Amino acid sequence: MERMNRSAKRAALPQFDNEELMKIIDQFLLVDKRFIPQGEGYSLYLRPTLIGTTVGLGVTKPTKALLYVIASPVGPYFGKDFKPVSLEATEYAVRAWPKGYGEFKLGANYVSSIEPQTQAAAKGHNQNLWLFGEQGNITEVGAMNVFFVLKKGDKKELVTPPLNGTILPGVTRDSTLRLAREKLSADEWIISEREITIHEVKEKADNGELLEIFGTGTAAIVSPVNNIEFREQHIKVPTGDDFGPLTQQVLDWIKSIQYGQLEFEDWSRVAKKL
Ligand SMILES: *Cc1c(COP(=O)(O)O)cnc(C)c1O
Repeated sequence: MERMNRSAKRAALPQFDNEELMKIIDQFLLVDKRFIPQGEGYSLYLRPTLIGTTVGLGVTKPTKALLYVIASPVGPYFGKDFKPVSLEATEYAVRAWPKGYGEFKLGANYVSSIEPQTQAAAKGHNQNLWLFGEQGNITEVGAMNVFFVLKKGDKKELVTPPLNGTILPGVTRDSTLRLAREKLSADEWIISEREITIHEVKEKADNGELLEIFGTGTAAIVSPVNNIEFREQHIKVPTGDDFGPLTQQVLDWIKSIQYGQLEFEDWSRVAKKL
């Protein structure tokens, strides 16, 4: 909700009260709970949306807006024909740029991705790996944040790019970092928010030090990656068609919090009648 208000501000849309919207969603869920599908992996996907509704042709700050919530029952993301995703490291287009609006969740951000995604698909890939700048800094994968598991001496390093203005601050990204910092042993793991380039990933893969890659986002929670095509070369992730152990662990942690099996801080909310 805080991110939505930040995004609304960037688009000159009005602010709303986070807790009031949460209470309305609670009431909606209680009234329409028959639409919440039961069974593991099923859920009611909720997407609060805010659009300007001023009538007119000018490019001006909206004077009217509509705040609504889309609710859609969804099935398991990882069905039996699930396969990890293959990526094209895209160099001819960027998703976001410094001081732009890539760090806000705006519909406009998806415009830059539709045509490149189509081109990646034509080459047999599922998504784009978004790079930025001369060094080939990795930013995101498709519309997800991205994590790498690397071997570092006798430890492992979990790396995700820092929130530098070109990265969408994903809630699942934040959850993954907080769970990793809380639950993984510091003797074995280094958790890093740092720049990572496509060249470093290639080098790590060549040295056998690339262990896992996964995307994070609300819909799938995690999305394992098995391959990156970069300048006609393929960077293969050793987990192949499987989930890597940490990828699986993050999925299990977050799922068990969502299903109320694991309590973690104040991340769960029970809908209460007003
Ligand atoms: C929505 C989105 C994400 C993931 O954010 P979550 O809050 O984890 O769902 C990541 N990157 C982009 C570009 C997004 O639009």
